[in-house]
Amino acid sequence: TIGMLAIDKNGDIAGGCTTSGMAYKMAGRVGDSPIIGAGLFVDNEVGGATATGVGEEVVRTVGSFLIVELMRQGKSPQEACEEGVKRIMAKNKERNDFQIGFIAINKKGETGGYCIQPGFSYRTYSGEGHVNNPSDSFLKA
Ligand code: ASP
Repeated sequence: TIGMLAIDKNGDIAGGCTTSGMAYKMAGRVGDSPIIGAGLFVDNEVGGATATGVGEEVVRTVGSFLIVELMRQGKSPQEACEEGVKRIMAKNKERNDFQIGFIAINKKGETGGYCIQPGFSYRTYSGEGHVNNPSDSFLKA
């Protein structure tokens, strides 16, 4: 999945995502990416979030909506992403071998991202061409 979140100079937030789905998926499977609230959610009053990883788990937890609601309650984007991933992993104690990751942005333009498995990265870009340190974005619990 590739998820994108953007904020413009007026503070308006937008998001989008695309996915190839999971390898060997069943015919007709619908992952999280096409479901608003699961793979992607934006509330222009609060922020936006998008997910990658095992879509079934993201759908079950309405994951991107959860991240935005955590930000509404006062969490930073980073804190919200970490709590969201940890909640999903806590529901799956018997297996910790699957990937779930979120990125998020809030109304102030602060960003965050978290994933418990390797192979996850995100970048931030501002109009001046500055790309934040991508190595900061790989986080392992
Ligand atoms: N979230 C996607 C899905 O379950 C998979 C991915 O992250 O590429 O369809």
